[in-house]
Amino acid sequence: MSEGEPSLFERMMSGEIPADFVHHDERTIAVRDINPQAPVHVLVVPRKRYRNAAELAGDDPELLAELFRVAADIAEREGVAESGYRLLFNTNEDAGQTVFHVHLHLLGGRQLGALAQQV
Ligand code: 5GP
Repeated sequence: MSEGEPSLFERMMSGEIPADFVHHDERTIAVRDINPQAPVHVLVVPRKRYRNAAELAGDDPELLAELFRVAADIAEREGVAESGYRLLFNTNEDAGQTVFHVHLHLLGGRQLGALAQQV
């Protein structure tokens, strides 16, 4: 994806590609991950495109906080708020970031195990 082309999430927002939306408001959307790593796997995304969490934090910390608030609401609705869930950003290559429009992963619904596998 070059910077000039719409990102995966911009293509979802425009309706160009289908997505299973679980939330949308003026500033954020949330969709189910197409390749879920847990029974609940939702991506919470700002409508405005930032490359990663560091850029978002630097430019608009309130929007970053909003992603966490939206994720907490979705965790309640999905029934994992009490059992537990994990929120994470993959940032750049070593973390395995593949979509360079920042997105917060919400994972839950099973024991999630170790945070990072050693190779
Ligand atoms: P990243 O690896 O950048 O942290 O996360 C990108 C996520 O986007 C991955 O978990 C991947 O499964 C998900 N993904 C990739 N393509 C699609 C798609 O077309 N639709 C949806 N809903 N998720 C996608």
